[in-house]
Amino acid sequence: MKTKVLWDLCEGNGVCASAAPEIFEIDDDDNLIVLDENPREELRASYEAAVKICPKRALVIED
Ligand code: SF4
Repeated sequence: MKTKVLWDLCEGNGVCASAAPEIFEIDDDDNLIVLDENPREELRASYEAAVKICPKRALVIED
């Protein structure tokens, strides 16, 4: 599974980091940081939750 962010849509609100803290983090300047570019299968549910909850639809699931 690959982490894919549509960067031009992301507004750095950090909602995804709440849903999937193993994969995403927000830095002190409200920039989204991808911690894990290739999340292991066990993190799929977290990633899917982040995709679903992102208010900007800036996350994509790619296998
Ligand atoms: S929830 Fe969406 S808009 Fe917010 S930081 Fe994450 S990817 Fe960006």
